[in-house]
Amino acid sequence: MFSWMNKTKEVHHECFDTVVEGLKSIYKYKMFPLEQHYLFHEFHSPPLNDADFDAKPLILLVGQYSTGKTTFIKYLLERDFPGPEPTTDRFIAVMYGEKEGVIPGNALVMDPKKQFKPLSTFGNAFLNRFQCSMVKSPVLKGISVIDTPGILAGEKQRIDRGYDFIGVLQWFAERVDRIILLFDAHKLDISDEFKRSIEALRGHDDKIKIVLNKADMINPQQLMRVYGALMWSLGKVFQTPEVVRVYIGSFWDQPLRFDSNKQLFEDETQDLFKDLQCLPRNSALRKLNDLIKRARLAKVHAYIISELKKEMPNIFGKENKKRDLIKNLPHLYRKIQQQYSVSQGDFPDVKKMQEHLSKYDFNKFHSIKPRMLEEIDSMLGSDIAQLMAMVPNEYCGDSDIDIRGGIFENVGDNLSPFGYRRGEGIMAGYGEVDWIVNKDRSSYDNIFDRLSNNNPKLSGSMAKEELLKSKLPNTVLGKIWRLADIDQDGFLDRDEFALAMYLVNVKLDGGDIPRDLPDHLVPPFKKNSSYPHD
Ligand code: MG
Ligand code: CA
Repeated sequence: MFSWMNKTKEVHHECFDTVVEGLKSIYKYKMFPLEQHYLFHEFHSPPLNDADFDAKPLILLVGQYSTGKTTFIKYLLERDFPGPEPTTDRFIAVMYGEKEGVIPGNALVMDPKKQFKPLSTFGNAFLNRFQCSMVKSPVLKGISVIDTPGILAGEKQRIDRGYDFIGVLQWFAERVDRIILLFDAHKLDISDEFKRSIEALRGHDDKIKIVLNKADMINPQQLMRVYGALMWSLGKVFQTPEVVRVYIGSFWDQPLRFDSNKQLFEDETQDLFKDLQCLPRNSALRKLNDLIKRARLAKVHAYIISELKKEMPNIFGKENKKRDLIKNLPHLYRKIQQQYSVSQGDFPDVKKMQEHLSKYDFNKFHSIKPRMLEEIDSMLGSDIAQLMAMVPNEYCGDSDIDIRGGIFENVGDNLSPFGYRRGEGIMAGYGEVDWIVNKDRSSYDNIFDRLSNNNPKLSGSMAKEELLKSKLPNTVLGKIWRLADIDQDGFLDRDEFALAMYLVNVKLDGGDIPRDLPDHLVPPFKKNSSYPHD
């Protein structure tokens, strides 16, 4: 199964080159033998392989039907991607690929370079609902995103799925860097299955961020009430809801319905993007953290299994004893807790454990092997500390690993007045010839004359107010500004302003803003001049 499995268990106290190489090494030589010996993989989680450690930072999107998960991804990438139908009931891994296309689940779990191999245990019903969309987007050079099926209310859907949805969700939760839970401010009904899904993410609270999406669909008072209701519901699900960050906004590129909270939405968007941009930098630390969590569970698991083995009679009354032991598992937990001073939070869920145990012959379990547990302790002690010390050295100030492209272009936008919290522009100073062919030109010119106060160009502050009337989000207006300010002087002359107004109307009419300005939109005068443009 794994190339390194048959190697002898020589454990080196070496200096690791990178955090990821170190993690791979201590997992293989110190944790894996213990996990295998006490059947950890059958009880808790399949073995980790190199691809798990090498993977790019992953973002998992979870939410009820129609909370804007797929739209959120398109918003991040600022483009469509192959694969998702209007409503999708699939898990879609959106990843970088030079060649765009869709890889179906069955093929995906065969690819040794990707980390999805263990998902094949969830069976064909799942694999038929799993795919990878390869997209050539610069954003995906930094992160990968997992889209998940919308969660509906009702028992029926759980049966219809034909696979362990919660189990798949947990598998991903264990391996991702960020879990984004999306809620629809417009209809905040939390189904039982969604509640169960959130509960399944327990233990990963530190990865969870919450997005209260479509917040522009309701007025500010309604929004306050919805926000309160959401916090109240979360309080029942999370142990510490006050530390889970909720971002309020409208995460798509359409005009805002109610724009009185525009500034708040912009602030929240910026905060969320900054958090996501830090993921590559924090990824090594996340992997380290997850491995520690896993090691602690593996250790407790070894104690439980070996204690059960110890309690079993050699010949008579095996079945009765097994039944007793399962029933009294909480008692065994307390015993282990005291004897080995393990903290209560490290123990696996009693009910789940009891269910699993009923399927096993306890006599085939292995007894305690102090040597193996010492390895784990030395790992948690010295190895982890060594790797922890490497994290800042390895990842500080490495600007190559930030996420670029897509919506993230707008984070550091200082070419347009719509850049985040952009100050006002400076007055224009020199003349300009005008020309552009457009049927609405005269109305644009009228607005220009009204705003310009006889100046030849509009500064950011002069034009901003007018463009904001469109209610388009700043990310879109920023893009329009950068396309329209053809000479990139930070001002819009008469032609450029007409072009900006034209693009605003394209967007409001349901069209898309092009990534680069097509030739036919470039004002004729600029084509013949030396302005920088391709
Ligand atoms: Mg979707
Ligand atoms: Ca200009």
